[in-house]
Amino acid sequence: MEHRITIEGGAQFRVCAEEDTLLRGALRADVGLPHECSVGGCGACRFELVEGEMQTLWAQAPGLNERERKRGKRLACQSRPLGDCTIRVRCDDSYLPVVAPTRLRARLEARRALTPDLSEFTFRIPSQAQFRAGQYALLYPSQTQGARAYSMSNLPNGEGLWQFIIRRVPGGSGSNALFDALRVGDQIALDGPYGHAWLRDDNARDVVCIAGGSGFAPMLSVARGALAQADERRVYFFYGARTQADLGAAAELDELAQERLSTSIVLSSPEASLPWSGATGFVHAEVERALDVPLDQYEFYFAGPPPMIEAVQEMLMQKYRVPYNQIHFDRFV
Ligand SMILES: Cc1cc2nc3c(=O)[nH]c(=O)nc-3n(C[C@H](O)[C@H](O)[C@H](O)COP(=O)(O)OP(=O)(O)OC[C@H]3O[C@@H](n4cnc5c(N)ncnc54)[C@H](O)[C@@H]3O)c2cc1C
Repeated sequence: MEHRITIEGGAQFRVCAEEDTLLRGALRADVGLPHECSVGGCGACRFELVEGEMQTLWAQAPGLNERERKRGKRLACQSRPLGDCTIRVRCDDSYLPVVAPTRLRARLEARRALTPDLSEFTFRIPSQAQFRAGQYALLYPSQTQGARAYSMSNLPNGEGLWQFIIRRVPGGSGSNALFDALRVGDQIALDGPYGHAWLRDDNARDVVCIAGGSGFAPMLSVARGALAQADERRVYFFYGARTQADLGAAAELDELAQERLSTSIVLSSPEASLPWSGATGFVHAEVERALDVPLDQYEFYFAGPPPMIEAVQEMLMQKYRVPYNQIHFDRFV
């Protein structure tokens, strides 16, 4: 059953009540509703309900604080319309999806361990895999409340393959369900693509990829995409990992090795008992050390945990005045 959503003073669109959250319905209808993580963590998709009824899927989602909840704020990614509704939100064309998200059934084809806690998961759908390098999708693991966001590490393709590099988070319900309960041949709901940090091809600037932890997956996709283009752009890939145990993921970059790629790996907590002669510390410090100034000659892509995103943003925007439209990131909340 479909419900009509009216944005005060703006667009109207329909949301399929059984399938869609308010956010997904808006993006599917090509309405630029602000959003970032799509899983309740960031609060970018805040709106107010003016009229009508909405079900809240995750009442305690950290994207809203108590004060905002009391003032009637809601999250579009956690709201499902129960009838026709009017909402108040400021839309912006910069949030229009570059590829309209769809909900699909995907079959797990293969799983390959890259490190003790990171594995590559390959899913197949019966149609083309349509997304941009650097985007993410929502997976719905069994026995888990809500969806989890995972970034594709491969490129769009005609074979219907969606690949992800997923970290097993200690005690995490979604990632552990993917590692332990999902078997090769099993099906899972996959919804996407989403995300803003997709590879831009409208300029000739060299590409800088900065990955923190499991932010490796979308940066691998961006690097693969940029190097697949028959142009002159160089790719500078910075990977911030914790210890030597994480280096198995970086081996994926060896396959890309070519003249246009420079790779820097930075360990934040190298094991003293194991050999390591590379850089140590925070990855953004290595970016600053290694790149030639001015930094506005590059196009920047980054993904990883919020403290890394904030440090890179601050360095690029405040210290080096890199224009906002050359900075593309998704925060792993
Ligand atoms: C844009 C984006 C891209 C990401 N890409 C990757 C990637 O490529 N690889 C990777 O390993 N990780 C990625 N993550 C992190 C991933 O989505 C999970 O947060 C992580 O796997 C931990 O999930 P968990 O269920 O194991 O842990 P949990 O601690 O059980 O859950 C963590 C997250 O799940 C969500 N959540 C918790 N409870 C609920 C609920 N009741 N309803 C709805 N949502 C809930 C919240 O967002 C929370 O932060 C990405 C995150 C984001 C936002």
